[in-house]
Amino acid sequence: MMEINGNRLWESLMEMAEIGATEKGGCRRLALTDLDRQGRDLFVSWCREIGCGVEIDEMGNIFARKEGRNPDLPPVQAGSHLDTQPSGGKFDGVYGVLGALEVLRTLNDHDHVTEAPMEAICWTNEEGARFPPAMIGSGVWAGIFDLDYGHSRVDPEGKTIRDELERIGYLGTRSCSLSPVKAYYELHIEQGPVLEAQTKSVGIVTGGQGCNWYHMRLHGMDSHAGTTPMPYRRDALQGAARIIARLREAVLQQENALVTVGTIELQHNSINTIPGEVFFTIDMRHPDPQVLSGLDQKLRDLVDEICREEKLDPEIDLIWEAPTVNFDPECVGSVRNAAEKLGFSNMEIVSGAGHDACQMSHVVPTGMIFIPCKDGISHNEIESAEPEHISAGANVLLHAMLQSAG
Ligand SMILES: [Zn+2]
Repeated sequence: MMEINGNRLWESLMEMAEIGATEKGGCRRLALTDLDRQGRDLFVSWCREIGCGVEIDEMGNIFARKEGRNPDLPPVQAGSHLDTQPSGGKFDGVYGVLGALEVLRTLNDHDHVTEAPMEAICWTNEEGARFPPAMIGSGVWAGIFDLDYGHSRVDPEGKTIRDELERIGYLGTRSCSLSPVKAYYELHIEQGPVLEAQTKSVGIVTGGQGCNWYHMRLHGMDSHAGTTPMPYRRDALQGAARIIARLREAVLQQENALVTVGTIELQHNSINTIPGEVFFTIDMRHPDPQVLSGLDQKLRDLVDEICREEKLDPEIDLIWEAPTVNFDPECVGSVRNAAEKLGFSNMEIVSGAGHDACQMSHVVPTGMIFIPCKDGISHNEIESAEPEHISAGANVLLHAMLQSAG
């Protein structure tokens, strides 16, 4: 059975990690910076070395192609991203891009030609750390964002994606829009603790959880802390505190549900003024859209009840809804077949984070492969993965892609 070259993949990961290397062994390679250009150039040179055609699209997404016997067939693709968080690791995203490259290198080693073409992709600005929002390159390709929107996103200095693409030489001419694809796969570290805790080498990702973001504002009345008896108060922060605590209880009763209040702001922040206004955010997630909409209703009911009791006027603004993602049963099946055939311990898993694959899944048959990462830690310089798992995941990718390519 054909196998990838684990040492070569590991060495390529380590070589890429030198571009933007940080003190604690991580990586800082923000999208469309000079360092990102260097990372892209290295990837492109590796693709050309094995005779792949390389095309850049209008969003700077890179497509490296190994032709199949039948060039009219839609390609089987694998990809991810080379950009990192400001204080990121060596594996998030990079593993998916270089894993896809390793598949093409392996086919090249064996002079193996598939029926359908095979492509390795590097998507632009997946992290969204420099240019919010996240997953823009794949999002424009999949038609979730339009090209003007993608080009006009700005970094904190006001530079646009389009200008920065032009500056680093990656404003391509290929159309950034949906074209036929046989199957898209993405290889990624889990970025959570489940596979490690269950001692599994490979996660067969069945989909991604849905996510709702809310902006919450409660209006009460500023008043004197010493002269306003308790029953007369309209204390917005007490209302928020009760909502936050009750919402957590509701979420704890629902398996796999998650809730985070990551921001809270008071208008005045004074020790002896009863807070008349509070703003906070809610991030709520669940893999089942029905459960998530049940939790949405629960939140609204709680807000009604508590604000009535506390004499507050609430504003609930659902600012963003990321739908639940279900990966393609055939692609999920190919990943499972590959893991079984190769004898790797495996389990089904739902992705907690967003990935380029989530954008792709709305328009083309998509599957994902996870491997464990140390202590489940990611978006951190100390992010780490075992060479053994790195190889296992790439072998699963190879065989899943071969099954799709015929
Ligand atoms: Zn990633």
